[in-house]
Amino acid sequence: MSTRPIRTLIVEDVEDDASLLVLALKRSGFDPSFMRVDNRDDLVAALDQEWDIVFSDYTMPEFDGMDALEVVRERREDLPFIFISGTIGEDRAVEAVKSGAQDYVIKGQYKRLPVAVNHALEEARMKREHRRAQEKIDQLINIDILTHTATRGFFLETLIESLEHAKDAGEKVGIFFINVNNFRSINDGIGIKAGDALIVELARRLSGVISDRDLIARLYADQFAIAVPGISVTDADTVPAIVKRLLDCFTEPFLVNRYNKKMTGSVGYCLFPDDGSDLQQLIGNATLAQSHAKRASGSSFTRYNETFRQDYEKRIFLENELEQAIHQNEFLLHFQPQLEIATRRMIGVESLVRWIHPRNGVISPMEFIPVAEETGLILPLGNEICRLACRQIAAWKNDGLPPVRVAVNISTQQFQQEGFAENLKRIIEQFGVDPASIELEITETALMSDDNTAFATMTELSRLGISIALDDFGTGYSSLSYLDRFPIDVLKIDRTFVADLPFDRRKAAIVHAIIAMAEKLDVKVVAEGIENAEQLQFLEDSGCDVAQGFFIQRPAEADAIRPLLQEGTLTR
Ligand code: C2E
Ligand code: CA
Ligand code: CA
Repeated sequence: MSTRPIRTLIVEDVEDDASLLVLALKRSGFDPSFMRVDNRDDLVAALDQEWDIVFSDYTMPEFDGMDALEVVRERREDLPFIFISGTIGEDRAVEAVKSGAQDYVIKGQYKRLPVAVNHALEEARMKREHRRAQEKIDQLINIDILTHTATRGFFLETLIESLEHAKDAGEKVGIFFINVNNFRSINDGIGIKAGDALIVELARRLSGVISDRDLIARLYADQFAIAVPGISVTDADTVPAIVKRLLDCFTEPFLVNRYNKKMTGSVGYCLFPDDGSDLQQLIGNATLAQSHAKRASGSSFTRYNETFRQDYEKRIFLENELEQAIHQNEFLLHFQPQLEIATRRMIGVESLVRWIHPRNGVISPMEFIPVAEETGLILPLGNEICRLACRQIAAWKNDGLPPVRVAVNISTQQFQQEGFAENLKRIIEQFGVDPASIELEITETALMSDDNTAFATMTELSRLGISIALDDFGTGYSSLSYLDRFPIDVLKIDRTFVADLPFDRRKAAIVHAIIAMAEKLDVKVVAEGIENAEQLQFLEDSGCDVAQGFFIQRPAEADAIRPLLQEGTLTR
């Protein structure tokens, strides 16, 4: 019969009883190596070694079996524990097993011993396996498989504890968010594998610059978070040093698909308790700080600032209210006259939308147009703006006022929307408006489409007799090829060029160049943002056709424009 080794710890005051037990084990097919202890201290010391099983007497002079059980369970959760006793009664035996012993065997009656031992060993093995599986699961939950940094869940849990601790200790905790700029260009352009390799390398670099107390986690994709606990309130050096080390992780190029690629990163961070009092706030604020850092070019960092949240909340407010505002017609057009410099006649007006919010009053297009563009609401809003402009033209005409051309600002998305020209034609017809009295102000980006839709739309519009102005000229790409390819009627020199006239010689040179070029191309030039007489004079001397700006006339409601339309001249 093959024997099975079994490392046996015996808690027993009588040496002979221990020997009898060992003998019984041998007879049952085991090969026991054993140690006997009879007091608490020796038991505790013995538990430093590895054991397969513990046998314990129930009543001893110096020690109690139930105490022995407790000592063992405190240290070895899964170690099989069997009571061997002559005195144990049925009731107490049941209680002992309830307290965590695997079994009990009556002293001298060792027939049940092999069954009891095998059963206890098997049970322990299953418990161990179960625990290992559980640990594996915990690990999967807590450790990111790709980068071996912590997972989001573990990070948040640990951060909560760090915050609690910092609160008690009167310390600060830094929460740093780090990601790669334009990571999508790697993932989408080169492939997910390359993206993963970049993430792994970044994790390696970041892990290398933090201390053992800090926790790094990958929250998702290329988004990493680092929690730095234990910053003392008086310490002003740690945070800048960390920021520097984090940004330094982007100095060396990354090996992407066998090529060295220079990548830049954005770090946003906030401090507890200065920048937020709870987990949710801090995470949100670090995110906001990071999105601000993203706006800068190259690698950069930003600490959370209260205005970020105000801006963010304002934005959420606008997003929520905008859709309803479109349904409830809360928009109104203002009109800003355009002066033909040579004749001092008012040859047109630019329409500028205003949102009259029922509670917040007038909201500027600079605030809500970008939101409308990002949410796609610019399409219904832009449509409404076209209708408002046409309705106004019709109303003025109805009142017998001389016709004036109305410039309407059109967002790129709106211009590139399929059927834009047809839709506009329908509106113009509906209000009985002369297409020649409409000018569309678009920016260069509207012309930058992959296919020929922009060209087709332009062609269709000029066929209808609608003129096109290129707005904000000089600020974007200012690609001259657009001027050549597209039937553009007007160039609007952006007000940033006009602002420093006539003193800024470089800007003056640019304005001269634009005017000279436009003249050759037979395109009319409108300069916007004229705020004083010197600017107007400079533009007049430079041969600019049309001027627009606060100095000539501020944008005003339709009714306020009536007298000017009637007269047809402007006093400047
Ligand atoms: P923009 O198309 O460049 O419009 C000119 C802006 O300059 C207007 O601001 C106007 O009030 C302002 N302005 C006019 N003269 C002067 C001046 O002498 N000095 C200064 N500093 N500013 C002057 P507003 O009305 O706040 O519009 C801002 C922007 O919002 C517009 O810039 C345009 O991009 C957009 N926007 C306005 N109305 C509409 C619209 O109906 N549809 C679309 N898609 N965008 C619009
Ligand atoms: Ca404009
Ligand atoms: Ca402009």
